Amino acid sequence: MPQLLPPLLLPRALIDPQLNNLPPADEGGLVAVRLSHQHGVITAIEAHPRRDGELLPLALTPLVEPHAHLDKAFSWEGHPNPEGTMQGALAANLAEHQGRSLQQVLERGERALERGWRYGLRAVRSHIDSLGSGAEPGWQGLLELQQRWAPRLCLQLVALVPVRHWATAAGAALARQLVSRGSQGAVLLGGVLGAPMAPSRADAEGLLALLQLADSLGAPVDLHVDESGDGGGAGVAMVARLVRRHRIGVPVTCSHSCSMSQLGAARLSRLADAMADASLAVVALPPTNLWLLGHAAGNTPASRPLAPIRQLQRAGVTVAVGGDNVQDPWHPGGDFDPLELLRFCLPAAHLAPWQRQGLAPFTTAASRLMGLEWDGVLRCGAPADLVVLAAGSWSELLCRPPQRRVLRAGQWLPEPAPARPELAAQLEGMAASHGHGSGLVQLG
Ligand SMILES: [Zn+2]
Repeated sequence: MPQLLPPLLLPRALIDPQLNNLPPADEGGLVAVRLSHQHGVITAIEAHPRRDGELLPLALTPLVEPHAHLDKAFSWEGHPNPEGTMQGALAANLAEHQGRSLQQVLERGERALERGWRYGLRAVRSHIDSLGSGAEPGWQGLLELQQRWAPRLCLQLVALVPVRHWATAAGAALARQLVSRGSQGAVLLGGVLGAPMAPSRADAEGLLALLQLADSLGAPVDLHVDESGDGGGAGVAMVARLVRRHRIGVPVTCSHSCSMSQLGAARLSRLADAMADASLAVVALPPTNLWLLGHAAGNTPASRPLAPIRQLQRAGVTVAVGGDNVQDPWHPGGDFDPLELLRFCLPAAHLAPWQRQGLAPFTTAASRLMGLEWDGVLRCGAPADLVVLAAGSWSELLCRPPQRRVLRAGQWLPEPAPARPELAAQLEGMAASHGHGSGLVQLG
């Protein structure tokens, strides 16, 4: 017997566009529907005639994290970078990497995936530091977690090295070895290009070697490129040029793509067109970029380098948004919560979730960029997967962190665990011993 869910408010952008039995969406792009599911898939989508003033929970399909670093997550406490500079992050990252163990990677990755899954993530792409002593623990640990989590969450892994390494014999051997260790399409090749230094001739050789290796191995590419306010998009321009000239057929993603935002409108538009012509995709990473870039001698920054998401979308480039670093030397915050990221991006990147192009970077475009089987759109036969929120409108989602319940394959997941139950208990204890119940808390 199919099970009928209570009525929900869903973005029309996340429901089959072919369905013609639904009323037009409201001004928030939402429609009230009733969903039925059986054996883990959606079996019916029907309109719900909403009574005047009827309060319904807003729901989304599970979200996608297209750019993370699970091998170094949660390492800020031991390796902080209080100045918040790129140089400070590199130095702390290097020190932490040299002592990185398999046990640490397994613990960090497991904790990250557990939190993300309960928050409503269904897929994560993680880069792995792939040169030096921490590389093998990183790959061994995350390949094990890729297998362990496969029934619940898709985990893609990307090799992260300085891009020029791919032009060496060791680089070519590394590429072949890594691709053979993972399942088809779940291991990608990447690298750092164009930041903090401008791309050099050696970088161009490394990038070409990477693209040709990836193409011959059938492995998609995801680069850290132009993570800087300087350079005017020289890195992404080089990627677009080489991909077209050498007819690279595998998907190529440019993560960061910040410095092109400093170009004038006409040059930016030409570069965005060239990226669209080369079928490049972009992952914008607002939390790390806004924290790490634009430091100016202790002043509040006036310039905030960030991928020009809307201009790229207008040119036809697929753009997703990711959280990047979580509690590591590159960014002290974050918790693998895609709704927090969505809430952050309203003011940070002017992405409004009631607009199709504002929601797509977290849902449909991110799914397409990662090459996932499901695009995140509900239709008959799609997974019975939902994130249901204790929010009755977009504004209620944006005004406070929402309570949520996640449905996967028709089954409700446990709630996200409190991050610090010991501290929550201490707070309860304080309130209980200082006037709890009177409505006032006595201080001192
Ligand atoms: Zn990154």
